[in-house]
Amino acid sequence: MADRIAVIGAGQMGNGIAHVFAQSGFDVTMIDVAEAALAKGRDTIARNLDRQIKKGTLPEAERATILGRLSISTSTDAIAGAALVIEAATENRELKFRIFAELDAKADAGAVLATNTSSISVTEIAARTKRPQHVIGMHFMNPVPVMQLVEIIRGLATSDETTTRVIAWSTAVGKTPVEVNDFPGFVANRILMPMINEAVYCVMEGVGTPEAIDTVMKLGMNHPMGPLALADLIGLDTCLAILEVLHSGLGDTKYRPCPLLRKYVAAGWLGRKTGRGFYSY
Ligand code: NAD
Repeated sequence: MADRIAVIGAGQMGNGIAHVFAQSGFDVTMIDVAEAALAKGRDTIARNLDRQIKKGTLPEAERATILGRLSISTSTDAIAGAALVIEAATENRELKFRIFAELDAKADAGAVLATNTSSISVTEIAARTKRPQHVIGMHFMNPVPVMQLVEIIRGLATSDETTTRVIAWSTAVGKTPVEVNDFPGFVANRILMPMINEAVYCVMEGVGTPEAIDTVMKLGMNHPMGPLALADLIGLDTCLAILEVLHSGLGDTKYRPCPLLRKYVAAGWLGRKTGRGFYSY
């Protein structure tokens, strides 16, 4: 029988991760502090399954089976029995430190505790537990059911065994794992966020409209999405949080977040999830 998995956080990443594991035959418990987030997360999974059926990539008969593998809870007590716990809660250091101390206390001995953090140090998160050898980064990309990559981030104390297990789980859900080491922003966001930040500077300085900037990058660089549309998809609050980590962690002013990005986040213009960012939705 496939392993049992628990996912902490039912937001856009958490429900996507729960979706791909349930679709691949794992029993999944999705846990969130907010009841509303759990209901919304489950609805999103059902809607995305419907989309797959419509596209002909999923047989209709599997829908009920997949949803039947998914349970939800507001309590981390529900991680008992899980071989792998993947944390995908809000990108905030103190919050993740608290969550990992709690997961460590409640998870089965030997369970792997993974974080989907975009940028926070896996080594520091692991140090909040008594099992740093079993803590690792599993950085899925958005939207999870569609994107191929899982960036696997080894903390300083992560064991080879944990890395091997997490690579096997990633492959079992049809993803391609790539192993990297723990430095601020890892690889994906170390390279992506400075580009997004530079695009925001271009808006602020009036170099071009968001449409013009995104079109230059799509047609000129063959990017499937422009950097500002991508920032809206990721969430501008998440982008700002990642840039802060790059800036403080690497100590180089080239990572300073653009003041316009700060202003949008302060206004609550967080991108798609709030209906307004660089574009309106
Ligand atoms: P989100 O805002 O959509 O969802 C976060 C969820 O976490 C919310 O439902 C919230 O209620 C829940 N939460 C907050 N505190 C919690 C707690 N103590 N216990 C359980 N749940 C809690 O955010 P998201 O975009 O899904 O991001 C989640 C994580 O994934 C972040 O670490 C982020 O950096 C990372 N990530 C995001 C993207 C992206 O494109 N958005 C891509 C890769 C990784």
